Amino acid sequence: ARAVRVVVLGSGSWGTTIASLAARNTPTTLWARNDDIAREIDTEHRNRRYLGERPLPQGLRATSDLEEAAREADVLVIGVPSHAVRKTLEQVVDEIRAWVPVVSLVKGLETGTRLRPTEVIAECLPGHPVGLLAGPNIAGEIADGMAAASVVAMQDEAVSAALQPLFATSLFRVYRNTDVLGCELGGILKNIVAIAAGMAEGLSVGDNTRAMVLARGLAEMTRLGEAMGADPRTFAGLTGMGDLIATCTSPSSRNRRVGEALARGLSIDEAVEALGQVAEGVKTAPTVMELAREYGVEMPIAAEVAAVVTGKSTPTDAYRGLRRVTPGDER
Ligand code: 13P
Repeated sequence: ARAVRVVVLGSGSWGTTIASLAARNTPTTLWARNDDIAREIDTEHRNRRYLGERPLPQGLRATSDLEEAAREADVLVIGVPSHAVRKTLEQVVDEIRAWVPVVSLVKGLETGTRLRPTEVIAECLPGHPVGLLAGPNIAGEIADGMAAASVVAMQDEAVSAALQPLFATSLFRVYRNTDVLGCELGGILKNIVAIAAGMAEGLSVGDNTRAMVLARGLAEMTRLGEAMGADPRTFAGLTGMGDLIATCTSPSSRNRRVGEALARGLSIDEAVEALGQVAEGVKTAPTVMELAREYGVEMPIAAEVAAVVTGKSTPTDAYRGLRRVTPGDER
């Protein structure tokens, strides 16, 4: 049988890294919006803007022709920022063959609709099996060949079982989970806690404070997830606690870096500009607060982060605000 071709849309650090892993297992094409990046990956096997001098597999093809890339896909992977998912897919609806599974790498909600990336994908591509790949996966470390684990979350286990070997390597362990909602929310909500953790780091808090932010952050992630219908146990796994720890403690996390920049006194616009990449938690925090109100769930950490990223508060005031929250039942 002809080998399955994986097509990854989005050539940021994570899209490029996942395409590089897949290229070791099966023919793989990476779509880059930017011509120069597509050419650099295709001919020099580098993506210097996002991954520096790390060499990419010789067999990884790259193109800036979106329609051509989409036509080739036996498996379609979405690695563009949350705000670009819908407009990217709208351009290729007619190119993608029926039944092609779609895997989201996206960890942010759509502003306005409040939809999760898999829901946006399902709206754009009705009838396709849709799932996601998420976990504690800081791209640079995986591109450097350090061991890591991730989860393919799909309702249909026959599809996720078929997807596992396309992404797995001896150093990249891919688990399965059928709780798509819980896995997807973990990756999304942890970005908000990572901004809070970055602010804490910038304010030179101690180890106990850092642990408090992580544990209470996980508690509010789990609370919202359960109210929305997710399995609370999912939040103790790779896509919940796992991704939370990686993102809150890694100095290379984009969300944590935004929090640190805010604590140094930069405005949100300056912090985002200085990063030069997308930190999904910035736009997602206010959207998550809309969901928290809708579901009647208290999320004090997310509330303070939302106030800071919308310019209504400062990191110092955010931490002062959290000290005024009366501790209730821990769960
Ligand atoms: P950042 O987007 O904050 O870099 O986090 C990456 C991530 O989600 C790691 O799993």
